[in-house]
Amino acid sequence: MTQTQRGLATDGIRHADILIVGGGLSGAMLAAQLLRLPGKRSLRVIEPRAELGRGEAYSAVELGHTLNGNAARMSVDPDNVDDLTQWLTAHIAAGGWPESDEQHVPVSELFPPRGLFGVYVQQRLAEAQAVGAVNGSTVEHVQAEVVDLQTRDDLVLLTLSDGQRLQGTYAVLATGMFPAARTPQTESSGLNAAALDPWDVAAMRRLDPQSTVLIIGSGLTMVDAVVSLEQAGHRGPIEVFSRHGLLPHVRRQPPAWVDFLAEDQSIRTPRQLVRELRRHCRDAIAQGIDWQSPLDTVRAHVGRLWNQATDVQRRQFVRHVRPWWESHHHRSPPLSAELVARLHQEGRLRIQAASFKGLESTVEGQVSIRIRRRGEVDTTVVSGAALINSSGIEYDWRRVARPLPQQLLACGLIRPGPLALGIAAAVDGAVLDADGQVAERLFAMGPPLRGMWWESTAVTDVASQAKALAERLTRSL
Ligand SMILES: Cc1cc2nc3c(=O)[nH]c(=O)nc-3n(C[C@H](O)[C@H](O)[C@H](O)COP(=O)(O)OP(=O)(O)OC[C@H]3O[C@@H](n4cnc5c(N)ncnc54)[C@H](O)[C@@H]3O)c2cc1C
Repeated sequence: MTQTQRGLATDGIRHADILIVGGGLSGAMLAAQLLRLPGKRSLRVIEPRAELGRGEAYSAVELGHTLNGNAARMSVDPDNVDDLTQWLTAHIAAGGWPESDEQHVPVSELFPPRGLFGVYVQQRLAEAQAVGAVNGSTVEHVQAEVVDLQTRDDLVLLTLSDGQRLQGTYAVLATGMFPAARTPQTESSGLNAAALDPWDVAAMRRLDPQSTVLIIGSGLTMVDAVVSLEQAGHRGPIEVFSRHGLLPHVRRQPPAWVDFLAEDQSIRTPRQLVRELRRHCRDAIAQGIDWQSPLDTVRAHVGRLWNQATDVQRRQFVRHVRPWWESHHHRSPPLSAELVARLHQEGRLRIQAASFKGLESTVEGQVSIRIRRRGEVDTTVVSGAALINSSGIEYDWRRVARPLPQQLLACGLIRPGPLALGIAAAVDGAVLDADGQVAERLFAMGPPLRGMWWESTAVTDVASQAKALAERLTRSL
């Protein structure tokens, strides 16, 4: 056995077969899949958070911050769609999550708190660790941020924020999503610094309960922010500004509908897709069936359609279909949607179609922003006691002010993905370098592959990518 195989490379740098950069859901699920496959392998997951498997989404601590899909839709096991339902059934039977009783629905229809989902992910990882241990496989959590990555002919070298260096046969970027700073100009003028974290209930408790709160963005993060404010006892006005002023629809449990995209492979362009989908939705409504039924059949085909589209077609989709897709497809959990609807009816929550133009000022207890309402030429300044930025995710890695994305781009080890969404990769997740060459040792999964698949973020996307990538890496090892 060589020194490298025993875990210590000749130059003293610790070696692992696979280095996983990021230990959120993607990193944890990739590790779990690798541990379950036959054979012996060493894994290191580099993640600055104290726990693996949570990331931003599943570090939630409030019961009201739930998954946006019911248990039947959120299994992390691509081979067992009922995996989460089964885990939850046992968890509830053992006395966990007693509040679920109040919902009076079968376990498969519950929308679990995201923090609890994190426990499920961690338990599945721990079980995989026990399976792997039988084969001599190991996983280690290294608590740090990767700040530099270099590839050599036969290995990948990482430098961590604490100065440590690691080397591996392969590395996987499972770095998840980066919060949007809106524009470099607003980032430097401190938008994110001035804004409250949408999930920070403790900070919201410190606000005057009757004060006005401003929220930028009207998607699912806004819904979570409203849940946080309610939880914190806020009872004042909430002013929401978003470009289109669209709210997410509420998620229902619609019956199955014919998989029309599987039956008709001639549908390829965004225009054809929208036309056919609208036709199916009209048919469904005419039959007294929920329009969500036909819409939900599209999900399984989005990756293929996006991947085979031209950039022109992708741009058409982003420009014309995206706002509609976001509000109809990324739907709100029912209890949160009820709260938003109630506050809207009471007139406490107002949604305005307006674009954010910049942060004007922040003084103790007051923040002012400049907006332009849709259809108006002039901009307006609005003020509130607090501001919440729920404008989403920055998918363009050129604008992500973190060391690793900047270093990888500067060294030409990665290139932006289609439409500058995430990074470019081959179908198996191997990244493309600045010249378009497929990397041999560097892979990516989850949100960084947004540009390759459009939907590459949700639990089911991540779970199926983890399985495929684990098989791919194991074959090469
Ligand atoms: C608030 C929120 C709610 C969501 N709710 C749902 C939902 O209900 N249903 C659903 O299907 N999906 C939901 N999602 C999508 C969710 O992001 C994915 O399901 C999942 O979290 C993606 O996992 P990830 O590991 O790829 O990313 P993340 O969870 O973002 O984890 C990435 C990890 O990488 C680490 N990292 C980044 N850079 C480095 C580096 N250089 N070195 C080391 N570590 C690094 C970060 O610390 C982070 O922990 C939600 C997302 C958010 C943000």
